[in-house]
Amino acid sequence: MNRFWSDAVKRSTPYVPGEQLNDPTIIKLNTNENPYPPSPKVKEAIYRALENKLNHYPTPTAENLREKIANFYHLNKENVFIGNGSDEVLAFSFMAFFLPEKKIRFPAISYSFYPVYCNLFHIPYQEVSLNKNFTLNQVDFFDSDGGVILPNPNAPTSILAELDVIKAIVENNPNRVVIIDEAYIDFAAASAVSLIDQYENLLVIQTMSKSRSLAGLRVGFAIGNPELIEALQRIKNSFNSYTIDRLALAGAEAAIEDTTYFKETTNSIIHTRNWMTAELKKRGFKVLPSATNFLFATHPSYAARSLYQQLKIEGILVRHFNKDEITQYLRISIGTDQMMEQFLEKLDTLIAEKRPLLSRHTSL
Ligand SMILES: *Cc1c(COP(=O)(O)O)cnc(C)c1O
Repeated sequence: MNRFWSDAVKRSTPYVPGEQLNDPTIIKLNTNENPYPPSPKVKEAIYRALENKLNHYPTPTAENLREKIANFYHLNKENVFIGNGSDEVLAFSFMAFFLPEKKIRFPAISYSFYPVYCNLFHIPYQEVSLNKNFTLNQVDFFDSDGGVILPNPNAPTSILAELDVIKAIVENNPNRVVIIDEAYIDFAAASAVSLIDQYENLLVIQTMSKSRSLAGLRVGFAIGNPELIEALQRIKNSFNSYTIDRLALAGAEAAIEDTTYFKETTNSIIHTRNWMTAELKKRGFKVLPSATNFLFATHPSYAARSLYQQLKIEGILVRHFNKDEITQYLRISIGTDQMMEQFLEKLDTLIAEKRPLLSRHTSL
């Protein structure tokens, strides 16, 4: 602790993202990035933007991108807010809708950025336990004091709550905002975006980092009724007028328009995911039913932490969380078929060689 630090710095407990290694030979299955490059039209659009006006500030309102996202969902641009990655949209939403004296709720196993924002913004929270199979009980989220935030599908469990569950939670918090963080919804079924005309307390947040292959560009967005969107604009404009640069705007606009490419790559990932689920099950893993671009899996004999470490030595990076209820699970992002074949090959070698794969009953 430095004596010049503000209280906000002192009480912060920053989020620790998955490792980003420079070694290009590593097969990276640890941060749920898309293994496919973005649409070729993204690159063309960014090149065009490069030729043009980088000496001028970008638009502070991102009207064109908002319009294009609105068109994709048959809404109006007044329903759309753009941020520098959905993490920024989430941070602004916590500031805009959650209060320092009212407890918000989120699942005990969910995106670990939520408690980080709560600490930073002084928002009290209650972590709601999930069932043994990691599904949620909707009633546990009814009548919250301060609001609700849910990742759906949930991360890192990969499990989807159906739309009628989301609807019930939104209806039973009529005086508080319910935020649905849909980072992975394009790999699942229907988005809660279809409900925003019915519920003025529903905010849906999505990202271009996963299904649109643009994690490196940093673009996320929120969809909700115009008054919620206005609140986010106010926060943003009290913070930074130009959160999205010209290149990111150009790339994101091209990505949202290329629906054909989007569908192709999304379908490939879903296909690979379903095949991988079966392959892991053949090897004795228990794999949770995934509605995302990753799998959450546990083996009855091998300690997850030890598998993680041995895979890393073999050049395969997956994610392991040091958290009691999920310490025997690995989160494995879905890559291309070829990447996943290499992953399975290494996994089989480890299991066959009976490397010092610690049994899960050995303490680490
Ligand atoms: C990846 C992820 C995000 C962050 O996405 P960015 O747009 O890259 O900031 C938000 N929420 C969840 C649950 C995620 O998995």
